Amino acid sequence: MYKINKVGVIGSGIMGSGIAALLTNTGIPVVLLDIVPFNLTPEEEKKGLTLESPEVRYRIVRGGLEAAKKASPAAFAVPENAELITIGNLEDDLHLLKDCDWVVEVVVENLEVKKNLFTKIAPYLKPSAIISTNTSGISVNKMTEHMPLEFRQHFLGTHFFNPPRYMKLLEIIPGNDTKPEIVDFMAKFGERVLGKGIVFAKDTPNFIGNRIGVYGILETMKALEKGYPVEAVDALTGPVLGRPNSATFRTADLVGLDTLVHVAKNVYDNVTDPREKELFRVPEFLEKMVANKLLGDKTGSGFYKKV
Ligand code: NAD
Repeated sequence: MYKINKVGVIGSGIMGSGIAALLTNTGIPVVLLDIVPFNLTPEEEKKGLTLESPEVRYRIVRGGLEAAKKASPAAFAVPENAELITIGNLEDDLHLLKDCDWVVEVVVENLEVKKNLFTKIAPYLKPSAIISTNTSGISVNKMTEHMPLEFRQHFLGTHFFNPPRYMKLLEIIPGNDTKPEIVDFMAKFGERVLGKGIVFAKDTPNFIGNRIGVYGILETMKALEKGYPVEAVDALTGPVLGRPNSATFRTADLVGLDTLVHVAKNVYDNVTDPREKELFRVPEFLEKMVANKLLGDKTGSGFYKKV
């Protein structure tokens, strides 16, 4: 009954571009949208461009895609696949969503931003479209409580892990109103077309993967407060244990420190048990790094410098 011939991916950051690449590598065309910038860069001003110039209006989406290509060249290695991505912005190009069978929201981890986005895109979607969120842990019911029932019936969480090309896990989080046939279809699509292992999760703060994963990362990071160096912690949580890709601070840089903080706070703010609250407390040094735009790979430096 359902078929996915074209996908709208909203948000061209680390995850959005990665999901777009994953889809195009299965031959599915993608429309990739992101916001229009609010300000001109000094270079744009020098060139005499305005906020209306196309070069400016597509800067963010183009930048996101370029950064993803640099971070994961293998995901974009087949040029014909990369050509299946049509870029656009959320002001001029919402009409591109009209023939998308699935639209996945992959924007910043912020409840209000996600809620506003759904209100904005809903008039452009076809009635049968499946809509999902890649949130790391915000309630899927809360983010659609303001939307009509028909929207909620077609809505669910599809939580990919970073990097989407390599991480096998796909969490599926049905909302209270999601049609069971859509949950079933998306699980089969994730498994058979995208090659993922599916875990069904309940709509609890951070679902399953990030409830455990973020707790582990934060607890290990707190070693820094006790005077252990970054390199030692990474050696002990990564290669020395035979897990080359799980070093704590390296993983945090890959995830994005701002995203990590949002995800940790989502549990902190939504649990009452003081012991559990302490587990998800964000260390002060992490807050400071985010305030200073040391966000990890996406800004070129975090715990490590990206060269
Ligand atoms: P990112 O910071 O790399 O990208 C976020 C994108 O959102 C940017 O391209 C930005 O321009 C866009 N954006 C900012 N404000 C917006 C607005 N007001 N409206 C619409 N778009 C806006 O973030 P990311 O790491 O790709 O994360 C995106 C989503 O995926 C988040 O919900 C995050 O929790 C989730 N997620 C992240 C990871 C990870 O490891 N980074 C893993 C799984 C899930």
